[in-house]
Amino acid sequence: MKTKDEFLTDVLARLRIVLPQSTDRLIPLHEPTFGGNEWEYIKECLDTRWVSSVGQYVSRFETELAEYTGAKFAVAVVNGTAALHMCLRLCGVRPDDEVLVPALTFIATANAVNYCGAVPHFVDCAEETLGLDPLKLELYLQEVARVSGDECFNQQSGRRIKAVVPMHTFGCPVDLDVLVDVCERYKLALVEDAAESLGSYYKGRHTGNWGMLSALSFNGNKIVTTGGGGAILCNDRQLAEQAKHLTTTAKLPHAWAFSHDEVGYNYRLPNINAALGVAQLEQIASFLNSKRQLAMTYQSAFAGCQSIQYFKEPLHSSSNYWLNTFLLDDAYSKWLDDLLALTNQEGIMTRPCWTPLHHQIMYTNCPRMDLSVTERLAKRIINVPSSASLGGLHG
Ligand SMILES: *Cc1c(COP(=O)(O)O)cnc(C)c1O
Repeated sequence: MKTKDEFLTDVLARLRIVLPQSTDRLIPLHEPTFGGNEWEYIKECLDTRWVSSVGQYVSRFETELAEYTGAKFAVAVVNGTAALHMCLRLCGVRPDDEVLVPALTFIATANAVNYCGAVPHFVDCAEETLGLDPLKLELYLQEVARVSGDECFNQQSGRRIKAVVPMHTFGCPVDLDVLVDVCERYKLALVEDAAESLGSYYKGRHTGNWGMLSALSFNGNKIVTTGGGGAILCNDRQLAEQAKHLTTTAKLPHAWAFSHDEVGYNYRLPNINAALGVAQLEQIASFLNSKRQLAMTYQSAFAGCQSIQYFKEPLHSSSNYWLNTFLLDDAYSKWLDDLLALTNQEGIMTRPCWTPLHHQIMYTNCPRMDLSVTERLAKRIINVPSSASLGGLHG
């Protein structure tokens, strides 16, 4: 066991092997790279005055997203949170339903459930993926759930459990094979929060293409950005048409009349943002390459280190390595805050993972299973600078 100072000095030295030296600016956690046709495509939007929610880049972005992920349909929206909200609406979540979500995720996953008037029900995570643990979920459902016809009920609360929303944490896919099977047997709709996992695959199939619907995000810190943006993926034409209807104004087709058949959300992605997305998507292969190279460099810089371990993609998975992640050994986790303070002070931006959702004031009274793995992981995770631009430095 090292002393606190030995531990901090060692980690800082190893990070400095990987990261650029003698820079007077903070190395961000994740900044975008604009190295392609971004200027040209955005200029074209301005020149042609097609800047808003209609325009050729929106449909082009949707087509190319579908092609890239292997999903049949993609519907572009204003952000990933809106995409999640719509996925849950479209899979049939109603007020007073419960939706199973991992306790360790970004707040948006639970907020989207709340927007539907439904209740998040927290599931523990697996140490191997940092995402929802489908085996532990199954054991839990055996205990608390009752399937009746095509529906699943929580025997403790009496509420219907409609869906489960796994999230592929920092780009690492959850164990989808097992989860798909659990969903079938318990009649749960599978909606993936794939906001962090564009470019990540499980057993060769793209994440976000395993369930009924999924949500992507193109926020500024994600692997591909549109400034702000998101998309809904699905393989069912009727669902895709409903997604388009609901994310616009739910207007009935007519040459001039304004007649609507439900409350639409106007979640459309503007053309100008889609133009940025098309240019970014053209470069995704090179982003993924750089990020994998960076991941390898971190891994070798920390090889043999006992106090803190690099988090690797599990077998059968290919992560996009969106955010490089380390896990402090349990004995060292008491110094996580010291490590965060030191690295940020030294110009290396690092972050802990999210405060688990059952500790967030809005969700403290929500149903949950035993969350001991989540609790333990949350004390040990640290994310380090992960921009694609850092991956080219090591040739
Ligand atoms: C980024 C993110 C979202 C959606 O984010 P937006 O900022 O709304 O695009 C949702 N879930 C997770 C896990 C995310 O990381």
